[in-house]
Amino acid sequence: MAPPRRRDQKPASRGTRSSELAAARKAVAEVSRRLASSGMVPATAGNVSVRAGDLVAITPTGASLAELTAKQVSVVDFEGRLVAGDLEPSSELGLHLGIYREYAAGAVVHTHAPACTAVASVRDELPCIHYSMLGFGGAVPVAPYATYGSAELAANVVAALAGRSATLMASHGAVTFGPTLAKAYEAMELLEWASDLYLRTLPLGEPRVLTAEQTEAVVLTSRQRQYGTTKRVPKRRA
Ligand SMILES: [Zn+2]
Repeated sequence: MAPPRRRDQKPASRGTRSSELAAARKAVAEVSRRLASSGMVPATAGNVSVRAGDLVAITPTGASLAELTAKQVSVVDFEGRLVAGDLEPSSELGLHLGIYREYAAGAVVHTHAPACTAVASVRDELPCIHYSMLGFGGAVPVAPYATYGSAELAANVVAALAGRSATLMASHGAVTFGPTLAKAYEAMELLEWASDLYLRTLPLGEPRVLTAEQTEAVVLTSRQRQYGTTKRVPKRRA
């Protein structure tokens, strides 16, 4: 049996195989480039991370997302110490690590997507105006403002994510997490779409919000129909 690890000792990364780590760095680079071409992030504003065993691969700070390579992706342990890569990790590293420590997240995406940020600059919550928002838990709270990169901001975001896999950040942007980087990215696309939808409704009046009964019916139907997964049609006999 291995001796218990003290908090001030570097965690052993035996649990993370080099192939797993290489795949994680590749995924971070790919999704960062995808984010850059999506129009959801201006310039270098956005970062993503993925968990690989007891390590986290994360976008480096100040890097051009449009040209990010796997080699440029930083790898840190759960204490935030750099274990691979030459570049300093994202200034929101504390926020990413805070989410991994608190929730069963496999990946985290943070952006300054325009519709998300517009809602987060005015409202305290994005109401549940569309059934697909139940994918991240319904209405999306807005985490209180704190300076970027601060421990206070990380704590505000982690608290706002209770019972949700998405949150907006007051006068800043948005965060989503998921079991994989692809799922966390999809959640961010959905959050930006829902925020845009909400903004489109406002000139027409306050939009209808799903009732508890409607919400329950959606959850039940999704469970029965396995919403969001493809389904193979049974082959017909010739
Ligand atoms: Zn930010």
